[in-house]
Amino acid sequence: MDYIQGKPRTQIVLIDSSLEEKIEQDNPVRIIDEFVNRCNLEEFGFTHARHASEGRPPYHPGDLLKLFIYGYLNRIRTSRLLERECKRNLELMWLLNELTPDHNTIANFRKDNPKAIKQVFRNMVTLCKRLDLIGGKVVAIDGTKLRAQNSKKNNFNQKKIDDHLAYIENKLHEYLDAIDVADIAEDLGLDPELDKEKIKEKIAKLNAKKLQYKKLEKQLIETGQEQISTTDTDSKKLAVRQNILEVCYNIQASVDAKHNLPIDYKTTNNNDTHALANMAARAKSILGHDGFTALLDKGYHTGSEISRCHEMNIETLVAVPSLSTQAPDPAYNIDQFIYNANTNTYQCPQGNILYTNGSWYDKGGDHKIRQYKTKACKHCPDRDHCTKAKNGRMIERSEFTEAVQRNKNAIENNRELYKKRQEIVEHPFGTIKRQWGFDYTLMKGKKKVDGEVGLIFIAYLFTRMRSILGKDGLFEAIRGFISGRLKRSDAVIHPKTLLRLFVEQFLKISQNSIYRGNNYYIYCTNAMVGRF
Ligand code: SF4
Repeated sequence: MDYIQGKPRTQIVLIDSSLEEKIEQDNPVRIIDEFVNRCNLEEFGFTHARHASEGRPPYHPGDLLKLFIYGYLNRIRTSRLLERECKRNLELMWLLNELTPDHNTIANFRKDNPKAIKQVFRNMVTLCKRLDLIGGKVVAIDGTKLRAQNSKKNNFNQKKIDDHLAYIENKLHEYLDAIDVADIAEDLGLDPELDKEKIKEKIAKLNAKKLQYKKLEKQLIETGQEQISTTDTDSKKLAVRQNILEVCYNIQASVDAKHNLPIDYKTTNNNDTHALANMAARAKSILGHDGFTALLDKGYHTGSEISRCHEMNIETLVAVPSLSTQAPDPAYNIDQFIYNANTNTYQCPQGNILYTNGSWYDKGGDHKIRQYKTKACKHCPDRDHCTKAKNGRMIERSEFTEAVQRNKNAIENNRELYKKRQEIVEHPFGTIKRQWGFDYTLMKGKKKVDGEVGLIFIAYLFTRMRSILGKDGLFEAIRGFISGRLKRSDAVIHPKTLLRLFVEQFLKISQNSIYRGNNYYIYCTNAMVGRF
């Protein structure tokens, strides 16, 4: 039977095509190339964007950035794999003009440029805004955990250290007792049945370990930290799902609801409890207005954070967790007590009034509360349904109760909108973690991990923008984009200049335009100046 035959390996090729001919016109590498060429890498702060004329020239940061964007888009993340691909991958050969940086150069670029990588991401978000891909009305904020380069074994808290020290002490006692018994046997002229030298070696090893744990204990006390990771010192053991703990980073992201496009990310090593206000403030700054609603799950439900959002005029829909303290009978739960703002009192289900002495009490350091009580509890017939406390029922009202109540009302009035939270934010997280398999970090240290996360989100934005705009649309959009910070003065343009730009567009001279939705969008420097 005949089979399809390849070319003989020894065949000499007389007329070969160029790399340019081998890469199709609609190949995504051309989009990466166009985008990076239009980024102002020096302004973003990339290392070697400007270099001294002496010595061996470094690689241009644009080439290394192109390599990483291509790599993350194609699930190639490690510097060694990227180095290998540079030598055998036709698309990369075209993209990098056949440059073949070594893995150290590649790895150092990612390590050294986390802030500059964030600027690239921010510029992509700016492009999305200009293309009207960002609605700016609803933003879902959530965190996802990426496993760190630190095993659970190399993460310690005081309890774990205590357990290890107790185990070592027990073992040391066992060995010392065994040696004592062997000594007595020897004194009696009997065979000790024990290799004393081996036992002494084990004792020395245990003492060395004990010293290590003591050092860690000292470090915990001196730094005031609750846990220490010894491989990646910035990583923390956090709850990933219910009772499952992993040593990881918590990546916070804000995702715009219009096309599920992330507009911000931040690498943290804490849980979600105190992340809301900061992420909401950053979203406000990125969107340039406060007229959006932030959707969050119950992990973010912290009174002080919700209150800060309201102070910034940001509306919140944070899921309300179930009550932490329940009355013996649910009919006497706190939500059955009616607050009267005029008299600053509560009315209980029995119709009695609970008063405060007006004092504020610190509650765990991050907020204050007032206490409300009534003497009527003493003779209340339903007391057993209401409380188990000896002195009767006491209601605690936080200084942030009004903000919490406002959020609760907003949730009740916007249930359909809140239900969209998961699908908005799970879109990027699901793609990044499940589809691409990026559920762990390669870098160590929060700053470096942030750079890596930036590359992941840049790759995600590219993918999403391509699926929304189409290959041609994205290519056109990028060709019309000039990166850099938008200045107010950029928006002011002389009518004659505007006219010239229009004429140029008609003559197809200018590349500073985008055709989308039956409109040409004309850009000058950084600002959209016209539409027709
Ligand atoms: S126990 Fe006190 S607070 Fe509770 S219902 Fe009776 S009077 Fe009201």
